[in-house]
Amino acid sequence: MRILVVGGGISGITAAVEVAEVGHEVTLIEKNPYLGGMVARMNRYFPKLCPPSCGLEINFKRIQRNKRIRVYTLAEVERISGRAGDLEQIRKPSQNPPLAEKIEDKGGFPDRPLDVTIRLNPRHVNEKCTACGQCAEACSLEIPNELNYGMDKIKAAYLPHEMAFPMRYVLDPRILGTDDAHRCAQACAYQAIDLSMQPKRLEIQVDSIVWATGWQPYDATRLDNLGFGRYPNVITNVMMERLAAPNGPTGGRIARPSDGKAALSVAFVQCAGSRDTNHLPYCSAVCCLASLKQTTYLREQNPDSRVRIFYIDVRAPGRLEEFYAKVKNDEKVKLTKGKVARITEDPATRDPVVEAEDIVSGERVRVRVDLAVLATGMAPTPLKSQMPMEVRCDENGFIASDLSETGIYPVGCVRRPSDVASSVREATAAALKAIQSGARK
Ligand SMILES: Cc1cc2nc3c(=O)[nH]c(=O)nc-3n(C[C@H](O)[C@H](O)[C@H](O)COP(=O)(O)OP(=O)(O)OC[C@H]3O[C@@H](n4cnc5c(N)ncnc54)[C@H](O)[C@@H]3O)c2cc1C
Repeated sequence: MRILVVGGGISGITAAVEVAEVGHEVTLIEKNPYLGGMVARMNRYFPKLCPPSCGLEINFKRIQRNKRIRVYTLAEVERISGRAGDLEQIRKPSQNPPLAEKIEDKGGFPDRPLDVTIRLNPRHVNEKCTACGQCAEACSLEIPNELNYGMDKIKAAYLPHEMAFPMRYVLDPRILGTDDAHRCAQACAYQAIDLSMQPKRLEIQVDSIVWATGWQPYDATRLDNLGFGRYPNVITNVMMERLAAPNGPTGGRIARPSDGKAALSVAFVQCAGSRDTNHLPYCSAVCCLASLKQTTYLREQNPDSRVRIFYIDVRAPGRLEEFYAKVKNDEKVKLTKGKVARITEDPATRDPVVEAEDIVSGERVRVRVDLAVLATGMAPTPLKSQMPMEVRCDENGFIASDLSETGIYPVGCVRRPSDVASSVREATAAALKAIQSGARK
């Protein structure tokens, strides 16, 4: 069986290793220059609060040990043709159009594999790279650091992060044609820099596809009343993960973007754009726990820090309830039931001022803090740019869960917002489905 996995986040990585470890061939493609997806950008993850390297490293080792997995980074699907699911439908004629019509419809044989064209974008650094960093030393051009949501800059010759897989530098396309590019190439003692690399196409045939292209943070600039993008000390929850991370823009020190001072009083604004018909009508299921987790970052970092969490409902299901109770019992943490109406800014201090109604006491609350964190939800990835074919989506724009007639199995947050544990469980199940789909031929 040959299976393609699209998306190298935790869902895609899990599906890939599960498929390969039962003896099937896997091609895993990822559009970024590194694997790990959003998990690689976390500081720690609940419920255990371990660093992301914890789970990812084990999986990277499983990938390295397994010759059946081929990994391509900077890679995207350009075209898919053929339909793997036809045979399954033909076996149930009562529920499906007649066989002749099916074959004619699809212009081919019912048990054809899927033909996939993959675009490989140039990294301009080949496998001889030892990650010594001499190219970055020689490079003067700086670009916004996407890993850190643009909160700092990196050299245009960069290692995505120190645990990156593959452990290989990459040249940003903006460096090409500049003197910097030549300086990088000259500085490399291993002839690892190849400025002539061009995009390539890879044509493969597979029996089924696991689609794991994940989620994206909701665009907080659309929340006019909350000041993101206007006030520097209003950030989002994903930015908070990077601020707290030892490999983040401040080396893990949770500081105000405006002046670099330690953030000692912090407000979390739950459901920022979530459960709101003007934005994301659904609950992303992880934002409450993400804010509770981020509260522990602050409280551990500075014993004098104070946290205020404004919420509609706190959702901490199952055993996560204990974690919620632990954070709630901290006397420096105050939870206020009430949706934040607006955030303004004191222009003299650049302190965000958060206004809400405490619906338990009925009082209007106005608090000035060092930093406000918007707990924005998980939005679907724009499928039109992800999938080179028409697919069904649910009412919220997430990919429909059952595409099995196409031979494609969506998994993880491309299907719905979920935490890592659920994504991993689903990925394991999708791996089996993808294998079964091929085995039915
Ligand atoms: C603030 C915040 C904190 C969180 N903290 C936790 C936590 O502590 N614990 C927890 O369990 N969960 C947490 N989560 C949820 C967690 O981030 C998700 O469960 C996890 O990212 C799901 O992984 P995924 O692989 O499905 O998606 P992603 O992590 O989004 O990975 C998808 C991958 O696909 C790639 N991709 C996208 N499009 C393409 C394409 N066209 N071609 C190729 N590749 C593509 C992406 O680059 C990415 O690498 C948090 C979420 C938020 C918002």
